[in-house]
Order: sequence, then C-alpha cells, then structure tokens
Amino acid sequence: MSAERSTAVGSVPDEVRERHAELSQEIDDHSYRYYMKTPVISDAEYDGLMGELRSIEDRYPQLVTQDSPTQKVGAPISNLFAPVEHLRRMESLDNAFNAEELAAWAARVEGEAPVDAYLCELKIDGLAIDLVYENGRLTTAATRGDGRVGEDITLNARTIAAVPERLDESVRPAPELLEVRGEVFLPVAEFEELNRRLAADGKAEFANPRNGAAGSLRQKDPRVTATRPLTMICHGVGEHRGVDFARQSHVYDMLRDWGLPVSDRYRVLPDLDAVAEYVAHYGDHRHDPAYEIDGVVVKVDDVALQRRLGSTSRAPRWAIAYKYPPEEVTTKLVDIRVNVGRTGRVTPYGVMEPVRVAGSEVEFATLHNAQEVERKGVLIGDTVRLRKAGDVIPEILGPVTEARDGSERAFAMPETCPECGTPLGQQKEGDVDLRCPNARACPGQLRERLFYVAGRKALDIETLGYVAATALTQPLEPSEPPLKDEGDLFALSVEQLLPIRTLVLDPDTTEPKLDPRTGERKVVTFFANQDGEPKKTVEKLFEELEAAKQRPLWRVLVALSIRHVGPRAAEDLARHFRSMEAIEAATEEELASVDGVGPTIASSIREWFSEDWHREIVRKWREAGVRMEDEGAGSGPRPLDGVTLVVTGSLEGYTRDGAKEAAAEAGGRVTGSVSKKTDFLVAGDSPGSKYDKALKLGVPVLDEEGFGVLLAAGPDEARKLARFSEEGREEEGGETG
Ligand code: NAD
Repeated sequence: MSAERSTAVGSVPDEVRERHAELSQEIDDHSYRYYMKTPVISDAEYDGLMGELRSIEDRYPQLVTQDSPTQKVGAPISNLFAPVEHLRRMESLDNAFNAEELAAWAARVEGEAPVDAYLCELKIDGLAIDLVYENGRLTTAATRGDGRVGEDITLNARTIAAVPERLDESVRPAPELLEVRGEVFLPVAEFEELNRRLAADGKAEFANPRNGAAGSLRQKDPRVTATRPLTMICHGVGEHRGVDFARQSHVYDMLRDWGLPVSDRYRVLPDLDAVAEYVAHYGDHRHDPAYEIDGVVVKVDDVALQRRLGSTSRAPRWAIAYKYPPEEVTTKLVDIRVNVGRTGRVTPYGVMEPVRVAGSEVEFATLHNAQEVERKGVLIGDTVRLRKAGDVIPEILGPVTEARDGSERAFAMPETCPECGTPLGQQKEGDVDLRCPNARACPGQLRERLFYVAGRKALDIETLGYVAATALTQPLEPSEPPLKDEGDLFALSVEQLLPIRTLVLDPDTTEPKLDPRTGERKVVTFFANQDGEPKKTVEKLFEELEAAKQRPLWRVLVALSIRHVGPRAAEDLARHFRSMEAIEAATEEELASVDGVGPTIASSIREWFSEDWHREIVRKWREAGVRMEDEGAGSGPRPLDGVTLVVTGSLEGYTRDGAKEAAAEAGGRVTGSVSKKTDFLVAGDSPGSKYDKALKLGVPVLDEEGFGVLLAAGPDEARKLARFSEEGREEEGGETG
C-alpha cells in the first residue's frame, strides 16, 4: 500500500500535495468542532473547502486515500458513550449547489436506467440517529459516528417522545429486524424556549438548533436529555429482515403504520422539472416547516434501482442533497453605538430591529471599527443585509441603498468614552482604533479585564463570569464597587458581596439583557438569595479564587492584560524566566532575546511595569498568596527544556489543558499542529488526523503511559516507549501496544 502510494504521489507537484494536506487537516478540524463542539465557520464555507479538496483529487486521483475527508463520514467517536457497530453502514449525502449540478447527478442516474419517480423531501438540519427494532421492540439507538461505528445513546433516545419503544402492530406486524434511520432535531420554537431557559439559569446557550439537538442528545445523563424538547422524523431504513420494500415511498408508508414519525412534506415526482419546482418552492418557503432545513434531499424512489446504483465510499449514488445558499436577511439599522473593551479600544456595533436569521433572533452585530463602518457604507436608519458568519456570529454585509429615503445619517465616532466619559484618543499616531485612556478607573475596561482574568486562558475562575465581573466593578447598588482595579480581587470578603445588585449585560455588545418575563432590564443579586444569605456561588467563588492562586506563572502573566502578551508569549516568558520577579527585573533587550518574544512584546512589558498601579496589582496579588514562580525557579535545567510536543485524542488522567500545563512545568512546549519539528505526539483515545500525520512524518508517538515517562524521565527514556511509523525511525524504538 505504501509503496503504491509513494510511486503515485511522485507525479503530484509539491505545492498541490501541500495544499491537499493542509485542506484535509483543516476540514478534519472543522468536522471535529462541528460534531463534537461548536462550528467556527459556516456550512457554506466548509462546503467550499471540501469543494476545493475534491477538485484537487479529481485532478490528482493519486491523492485519494482512505482517510481523505472526501472518503469519510462524520467525525471520530468520542469516549463519552460505548461504541455500537451499525448493522448497515450509515452514509452521508453528496451535494448539489445549483440546478446544473442537480441535473448532472440526474443524468448520471438516468444513464444507468430510466427513472420513473424521484422522491423529494426536506433536508432537516439535525443529527442522524439509528434505531434498531427487534421483533418490534427498540433495542439500540446510536449516533452516526464515523458511519460504521456510532455512539450508544439508547437511554437518551428512550426519553424522546417521538421514538416509540414498541412498534405499533395494529395495521401490520412488526418485522423480525428493522434498522430505522431518522433525524433528531429541535423545532425552532422549542430551541428558543430552551435557550431562554438556559439563559435564565445562567447557563451557556446553544448557537443554533442543530447544535442544541446534538448537545441535548449526546448528554451523559439521560435525565438531562429528557428535559430537552427533542423530536425526530424518519428518512430511511438500514438492515431489515422479515419485510421488504419496493419503493422509498413504501418505506415511509410502512414506517408510518408502525407508529414512526414520517414527514408529510415529501413528494413523489415524475421528472427533474417537477423536482426543480419542489426545490424552488422550499427555497422561497424555508421557514414554513417548524424546524430548520438546509436543503432538499432527492432520492430515486425505486429500491431496485437504488441497489443497482449503490454507493461511493461515503454516500449513496441514488440520492443527492440540494443545498440552499447561506441565509441572508434584511432589517433596519436603528443605531450604531460603541462599547469599550479590555484594552480601552472603542468598538462600534449596530443595533437593529430584531430579526430571525439562521435559527435565532439577532439584534446586535459588531462593526469592528470606524473604518469598517465606512467601508461597508452603512448609515444609521439604513435597511441592511445581514447574515451569520459561521452560522453563529451576526454580520452586517451592507446597505440596501434602494431602500433609502433621505432620512439616514452617517455614523460618527463619539469623542468620549461611553462608560466613563473620558475623551478618546489614539494610543499612537496612525492607529486605526480609538481608545479610552482611563485604563485604571474606567469601569467598562475594568469589567472586561476582570472577566478576562477569570477566563479559561488566564486564571480559570469559572464563577467569575460576565455577571460577576459586572457586579464587582459597576453594581447598581451599593454605589461604591468592591473593586477599583483588579488588585483587590484576592482580598474580597463575603460582606462586600452580599448587598450587590447588578444589571445583566450581554458580553458581546455590553447592552443590558432584558428579562424574558417582564421585558424590563434584568437586575440580579448575584451573590445573595432572597433572604440576603450567601448563595452557593459565593463559596464556590472563594474556593476557585484559592485554587487560582496556585496557577502556573504563564497564566498569571496572561491575567495581567499586558498588551501583546497572550498565552503563547506568556508561556515563552515563563519558560525562560520562571518567576515574575525575574521578568520584572529583565531589561527590554533581555526580554526581546527570548525565543518567541521579540521587541514589540518586550517593549510592551517594560511599559506595563512602568505604571505604579500595575506594579501595585502584582504586589497585592503576591501578598494575597498568588504563586508568582514556577517550580524550579532559580535552579538548573528541566527535563523537557527545548522539547516540542502535540497532544491529540483524550487522555484519562489529564484534561487537554492539564496535559499542556504538566508539559510546560517540565519546560516543554505544546503546540497545535504536527510538523517535522515536533519531538513527540502524545495520543490518547480516538486520536484525530494528527496521529496519521505524526506517523507519516516519523514523529514518535507516545500513549498516556509514555507521556508520564516523558514528564518524569525526559525524552530519551520516553523515546524507548514510542511508536514510530514503519518507514519512520524504527531502529530507534520498538512497537508498543
Ligand atoms: P449532510 O448533513 O450534508 O448530509 C447527510 C445527512 O443528512 C444524513 O446523515 C442525515 O442525517 C441528514 N438528513 C437530513 N434530512 C435527511 C433526509 N430527508 N434524508 C436523508 N438524510 C437526511 O452530510 P454530513 O456528512 O452529515 O455533514 C456534512 C455537512 O455538514 C457539510 O456539508 C456541512 O454543511 C456541515 N458541516 C459543517 C462544518 C462547519 O464547520 N460548519 C463542519 C462539518 C460539517
């Protein structure tokens, strides 16, 4: 196999092979986020990347390997659930994005045999489920997973009212075996209600209904799934015994007889013209159904012909998904306001008449800076085009100039800070951004900095979320906030917290949130209950503050909000200097000479420490017991000095951040992607494409045990336990299990 590949690959230009590898990695990463977490790009952008990959593979078929994203379904399986092998493979669908592509698909199908009917149905934007009924009784429910093996979610599926425990046999007897495929989803209204509930409980909301459905179905605790208004519509069958189907439409008739939910919006149509009409109709009526759709699925109705056409490695040839373009809506831009961020930067954002787009209601959208407002050419009062980037972040695209009536007016950046009234200015000449110079006392900047101190990339204080940060820096009551800067964070007392009443702000816009019940601005006593007693939150906050004092140095550095010092630079600084004292004492030249630091960061650090109140924060934190040095500060070299590693998959004994920290404490550097310079890949369960890449590049791969050895005994010992690719440095290490 590898010999075959290497001769074939020889004819592909280097830059094409590199682009292919890069795209494959990028697509795999997006898939992982999409199926396991939250997507960061829109489906259309994802489909664009996939289109590019496919066109490369069309030109260079040698690049098509089994693990190319074009050949795979879904994502790696998580280890939250037990794996279940599907009785018959669950496939994806090929896409058509326009009438020509749809016609080309139909021509391929009709080239095989005449088609007497197409079945058209809506492509529901949910997640696929596989239900196995044995003699009419539900025995297993699973997610699609990688198409062959899914996750066992039987207990969760049993909580969904639309999933019958037993098939109804009043019309026809249940077959011996039936594998039913369907889509689990949250209807839009239920999704919104769920998000309102989550928000009211102070929990994270879901980005869109699909994400909400996946998050609700893939819960560890089925009791949580039971509280989620999930439902299902069936769209096919897999393995079956004791029953046969001549047509896709007969499948649906029978499923319906057995009490399984089937859509009443599907149509059996005679030819491609009728199909095109169906596609056009739902293009104009995308929001008629109670659920989100992202297209139409067209299937050959005749099952014998379906069998004859068969499947590619990932999708049936007898079906195609016609995908609608990303959604754009228009609404009125009522105002452009500004908010102030952690570094004092003032950012304009649009306030719109609320409008529904891609599954949720949108009222605000950032406009980044004054130049961006100008570039987009939007005026206050304009009708604007709006879409969601990444199907998550609302983006104003531009004005509908035809809709202007002369009453629109241009936006001008305000001259003073919206939070503290200080005149705004540029930090340096030529800066694009305007800033509020009142860094220490501006309550807006302090609130944002405090929220950042508590962030996952800094001191990781979960209870200190946006509401708590608002409460501590700009409460409605009492008039004096407990914190005037972040210096006293570790000196807070319960007595200070209990009387606080505060507004709840939207972290994206800093606009006050409204109470869904009253429509008034939402005011909360965050720390005290109705009787003025401390809530559980208070105890948790103090526990977390205590734990935060023991964080590694790089996190403390990040928490100080020094310009340009993010986690990467902070890690480099901490690795080199190992104590705050040494960083404070270092000259600009010394700082700039550190690997990964450079002159900009160095000068920014020196500038930061030149402010009295900044040094005062460090002093107060140190006095309160915040650890300001890493282990071995002042002593000799550490086992992982100069070692670069990448972590993939899940480890039993470490979270991802935990593994990173353990490596950093030992002097190692953890990066995000595997390259020839990577010294080790640490691979846990269900590793992703990084694993294959490491083997390909000859990077030694360690399991969790090997990682332990690496931390304790250093790279030489660990290498003895590493796994290498066959062509890799086999002579250096033996194969391990
Ligand atoms: P798909 O969602 O395009 O199509 C296959 C799935 O459609 C099936 O598994 C089934 O669950 C579902 N489906 C819904 N209604 C159906 C019906 N009536 N009949 C048959 N099937 C129906 O393909 P996929 O492989 O699940 O996912 C790929 C797509 O997911 C991409 O095209 C992209 O849109 C999206 N995606 C986005 C990102 C991102 O980062 N935004 C990442 C990965 C995938």
